[in-house]
Amino acid sequence: MSETSPKLRAELEGIPTYKPGRPAAAGGPVAYKLSSNENPYPPLPGVMETVTAAVSSFNRYPDMACTGLMNELSERFGVPLAHLATGTGSVGVAQQLVQATSGPGDEVVYAWRSFEAYPIITRISGATAVQVPLTEGDVHDLDAMVDAITDRTRLIFVCNPNNPTGTVVRRAELERFLDRVPGDVLVVLDEAYREFIRDAEVPDGVTLYRDRPNVCVLRTFSKAYGLAGLRVGFAIAHEPVAAALRKTAVPFGVSQLAQEAAIASLRAEDELLGRVGSLVCERNRVVDGLRAQGWTVPETQANFVWLRLGERTVDFAAACEQAGVVIRPFPGEGVRVTVGECEANDIFLKTAEGFRKEL
Ligand SMILES: *Cc1c(COP(=O)(O)O)cnc(C)c1O
Repeated sequence: MSETSPKLRAELEGIPTYKPGRPAAAGGPVAYKLSSNENPYPPLPGVMETVTAAVSSFNRYPDMACTGLMNELSERFGVPLAHLATGTGSVGVAQQLVQATSGPGDEVVYAWRSFEAYPIITRISGATAVQVPLTEGDVHDLDAMVDAITDRTRLIFVCNPNNPTGTVVRRAELERFLDRVPGDVLVVLDEAYREFIRDAEVPDGVTLYRDRPNVCVLRTFSKAYGLAGLRVGFAIAHEPVAAALRKTAVPFGVSQLAQEAAIASLRAEDELLGRVGSLVCERNRVVDGLRAQGWTVPETQANFVWLRLGERTVDFAAACEQAGVVIRPFPGEGVRVTVGECEANDIFLKTAEGFRKEL
């Protein structure tokens, strides 16, 4: 056997691997997964029927152009077909955006802490990650992000609401930021949790992109629409960017099951957004409960809450797990807890209360 091994790109060294939220341990007490910001509701019966019918033809490749879904999205958002691109989840689309804009020597700017996929996809492209710390209040520091722009900057992610803190940037500050970013730098507004926003001052990226050729909006069917396991997301952007996304797409990446489920979900939007409404009520109950216990909780507009626990992060996560809920710890920083089933939220609140009393 040869002593040598295949040469791999140097950029891969030290790339953090994506850590999925841990599933609930099998055989434990009651165990709820509050670690991946998933939708706790099972698929709608109508969506299930559609997907089940599509199963019978998975010997065939899917429609590569996602024609039906693209038409549906075009109508739903009032955007031309040429401004749309689909991908394998919005993470897939985000990776295509980095690939399309940034290579070795180029810089990708994003807030930190933010979505953990950003550093990974940036470094896979060979580009340099420029991480701009969140403010004291765990919000994007848009002024500092503008200051971080150099002539090597190609792309800026703005995660709104931010994962894992749930915090938002509002209309006036975001518009001021966009006005200051040079036109040859792509700004990606990652709106994975858009449907959970109740703050009227948070702008809809789709209204912002229209007269701004360097703005791209990312949306997903994984969270509010409950299709995380089917992998389908999309971007809305002006033509050169949307066209670049079609070039960088993995051929046939979005399965026919995902396409059909996404169309059925858009058609069942009232019912799905009703569920989102219930989750928003639960979110408010969890935040109020935590604050009543004395915790400092940043304002969240997403389907999760952030507790900055610092050194106590891992102990807190262990206490939750013991009680039957798996949450997402970021050791040394804090925990992100998805708003899930009422029972799961109750267990979390009770555990947080007990933990707080022991501090
Ligand atoms: C969950 C999430 C996504 C969506 O991921 P998919 O690939 O569409 O499942 C994108 N961005 C952020 C910030 C997220 O938290």
